[in-house]
Amino acid sequence: MYKALLVRFGEISLKGKNRSFFVNKLVENIKGALRETGAYQIEKSYGRIYLYIEGNPELYIEKLKLIPGIVSISPVAIIEPEIEKIKEMALKVFDYSVKEYPATFKVETSRPNKEFPLQSPEISREVGAHLLRNINTRRPEQLKVDVHNPEHLLSLEIRRDKALVYTESIPGIGGLPVGTSGKGLLLLSGGIDSPVAGWLSLKRGMTLDAIYFHSFPYTSDRAREKVLDLARILSKYSGKINLFINHFTDIQMEIRKKCPPKYTITIMRRMMFRIAEEVARKNKNLVLVTGESIGQVASQTLESMHVINEVTNLPVLRPLISMDKTEIIQIARKIGSYNTSILPYEDCCSIFVPKHPVTRPTLKDTLEAEKDLEIERLIAESMEKSETVIIG
Ligand code: ATP
Ligand code: MG
Repeated sequence: MYKALLVRFGEISLKGKNRSFFVNKLVENIKGALRETGAYQIEKSYGRIYLYIEGNPELYIEKLKLIPGIVSISPVAIIEPEIEKIKEMALKVFDYSVKEYPATFKVETSRPNKEFPLQSPEISREVGAHLLRNINTRRPEQLKVDVHNPEHLLSLEIRRDKALVYTESIPGIGGLPVGTSGKGLLLLSGGIDSPVAGWLSLKRGMTLDAIYFHSFPYTSDRAREKVLDLARILSKYSGKINLFINHFTDIQMEIRKKCPPKYTITIMRRMMFRIAEEVARKNKNLVLVTGESIGQVASQTLESMHVINEVTNLPVLRPLISMDKTEIIQIARKIGSYNTSILPYEDCCSIFVPKHPVTRPTLKDTLEAEKDLEIERLIAESMEKSETVIIG
């Protein structure tokens, strides 16, 4: 029935001169996402994108629904802008999409082509009358117009070169096209929070790479697989992600040996930030992104964040900072990461967690606590063993 998809984007049409940059990125991302979906042609036209497809629209829509920057998608029938043709196609589309009668409906018309001989209300009326006449003569259960609360909405759009007929608008995720907001480095653990933080960032147009600190053999290969899976889930939205896997066990052992137990978490997280900064510098990531949220665990008090943040000059984005766990879980479910995140493989910190971690560390005490650590050497060794996996 439908041989075309209308793809709408919102915010990016507001970006003035940058607009073509944004639209071109979106087109590029659509092409990337549809690489294996089947043949299609793409057209940019007056603030929207048309895809002329072959085959089942569902297959294309499933992919488009995940692409940041897309506000909604409608499968559309396209015909010449001529009233008899519009009526005929409206009946076909309506018949195709309405399965149960009796039913109420409304025709809604927009008419960007002001030269079209009929005005919008007249077009709606004529097409509505055509549907009633045809459908009600062949059905005992009647079809009725309800302009206030219709069960079915048939939309018409009259443009200069074509008319569109459709009944559905499927919501996309909105946001901005990936690749329009610079490149960030996500600290990706196997937990619930960091994949959500990553998703929120890429939804704002950020290109993402990720770093995972692996504590083999204290965390198993399955824990590593889990992080790879989470990165794969994110890459469905963003396209390719470089995942850096940094060996962390030696650092944790050193910390355990040389630092007071109360401070091990704070110091461990300072080491993570230092290494992440080093990776970001090499890889040209402009910011770090974490899944921290105020007060969630001992290391997420403002005092802890202050002391941990002190090791880096890069901006650290924390998209979840003010969210409750329930709100974070809701997003995790929506984006499809939740079920993977709750798999029970231990994370690197839970194994080295002291009984009484300091919740309000001061910088002075932390510096004292880490004074015996050979920081430069540990960072260099971790960088040497760093492994890169390209996901997506
Ligand atoms: P998450 O659910 O994302 O694991 P969390 O609530 O368990 O977060 P923490 O363990 O304190 O919180 O970690 C805070 C943030 O630090 C994480 O959201 C993540 O960005 C980063 N992080 C923690 N552990 C790792 C790790 N092993 N590798 C990479 N980043 C990590
Ligand atoms: Mg965690």
